[in-house]
Amino acid sequence: MAERNERVNVIGGGLAGCEAAWQLARRGVGVRLFDMKPHRFSPAHSDPNLCELVCSNSLKGAGLDNACGLLKEEMRRLDSLVISCADRTRVPAGGALAVDREAFAALVTQSLRELPQVEIVSETVEELPEGISIIATGPLTSGGMNGVIAGLTGGGGLHFYDAAAPVITADSINMEKTYLAARYGKGTPDYINCPMERDEYDAFWEALVTAEKAPLHENVEKPNVFEGCMPVEIMAARGRDTLRFGPLKPKGLRDPRTGLTPWAVLQLRRDNAQGTLYNMVGFQTNLKFGEQKRVFSMIPGLENAEFVRYGVMHRNTYIDSPRLLNRDYSLRSRPEIFFAGQITGVEGYVESAASGLLAGVNAAARLRGEPPLILPPSTCAGALTAYITDEEVKNFQPMNANFGIIQWEHIKIKNKKERYEHISAHALEDLANCTKKS
Ligand SMILES: Cc1cc2nc3c(=O)[nH]c(=O)nc-3n(C[C@H](O)[C@H](O)[C@H](O)COP(=O)(O)OP(=O)(O)OC[C@H]3O[C@@H](n4cnc5c(N)ncnc54)[C@H](O)[C@@H]3O)c2cc1C
Repeated sequence: MAERNERVNVIGGGLAGCEAAWQLARRGVGVRLFDMKPHRFSPAHSDPNLCELVCSNSLKGAGLDNACGLLKEEMRRLDSLVISCADRTRVPAGGALAVDREAFAALVTQSLRELPQVEIVSETVEELPEGISIIATGPLTSGGMNGVIAGLTGGGGLHFYDAAAPVITADSINMEKTYLAARYGKGTPDYINCPMERDEYDAFWEALVTAEKAPLHENVEKPNVFEGCMPVEIMAARGRDTLRFGPLKPKGLRDPRTGLTPWAVLQLRRDNAQGTLYNMVGFQTNLKFGEQKRVFSMIPGLENAEFVRYGVMHRNTYIDSPRLLNRDYSLRSRPEIFFAGQITGVEGYVESAASGLLAGVNAAARLRGEPPLILPPSTCAGALTAYITDEEVKNFQPMNANFGIIQWEHIKIKNKKERYEHISAHALEDLANCTKKS
């Protein structure tokens, strides 16, 4: 058991902060859990209880053929408060785990209130408290915490908007229609190039400029947000050929199979160290997700592309974790400070809670001088951690749970559902082995 005066500050009582507080308290560590609610609400929050689901009431797929389903099962096995409360407030939703949102938030809050180790403090934190702290103030971090985090992460380490291009799995790219090349042959041919003939480009352009856009959230419309990260559909709307002088520029990308320069070329850049994910270069977008799938699948080579992350543009405070965080979620420059939740660059309710779980376990370990819990990248929680702390990931954008980032011994399993269930079964075995040892 921890000494009586051992206490950890958890700043932010959302998905990540509540889970972190629970894990600390279950290990006998005292917690001061700060949340500005109910005195102050972000533009998306309205429930006075903690752990509010701000938008959908779904925690996504429940089955083990779904990466988020696997993540939830791993968390269940790690004594997650969020998943336990979700299971107990579940509402029918087909293959998904959806909850009664108010009952869920009330149950999480009540469960924390009942723990003698947890003190809930209703206060907007403007300065970092003394001692070990977990910062979990979320994508809509308020008040002075933005300045505190900017100070901790140094210049350029903090992003306020998420203007991201889609990410697809390497496995789903049709390599027969694409080719590897570097522009003008400079450097190694690391990019996968998707060439377009004139008629293919024209059809794509028509579909792109008429596709349905998602509504923009607060402040995203401000011109400075668009600097350097203009949505591809807005650029396309400026003229039929604009993209051919921008992200689809074919110059210097001669197709080695024909010896000719295509009419337009989309480049795909490796997005993780293993090379299992690829980013659509220059394709940050605000199209609706279904529209992204429909329109981007028209690009040769992407007919069956599996999108592990769609492009987005919204307010989203997150740090440049690959350059800032250790694998135990502590800050490399100040190891007594941990980050958890969407602010670390994981994306989604469950992913945020999972990072809170690991940050909580590891803050308790730090307090006691015990080794951290680093899950292997063959588990979903471990793979997410590995991704967000992977220094090879450049232009870091938030990532959700998906099978593309999970490491597994590749064997041919043609049926996708069976393949995913196979990966999940191994992940759960590895999780059991890892937690047995620690
Ligand atoms: C508008 C919007 C819609 C989203 N919809 C979905 C969705 O449908 N599905 C999904 O999976 N993900 C969604 N997300 C993404 C993400 O999963 C959620 O934002 C998730 O709640 C993140 O969890 P978190 O714990 O990191 O932050 P939050 O759950 O936002 O928790 C942060 C907490 O910190 C508190 N706080 C902030 N600043 C301070 C401060 N200075 N002092 C004290 N307290 C503070 C807040 O009051 C809040 O309770 C959405 C995000 C946004 C912004």
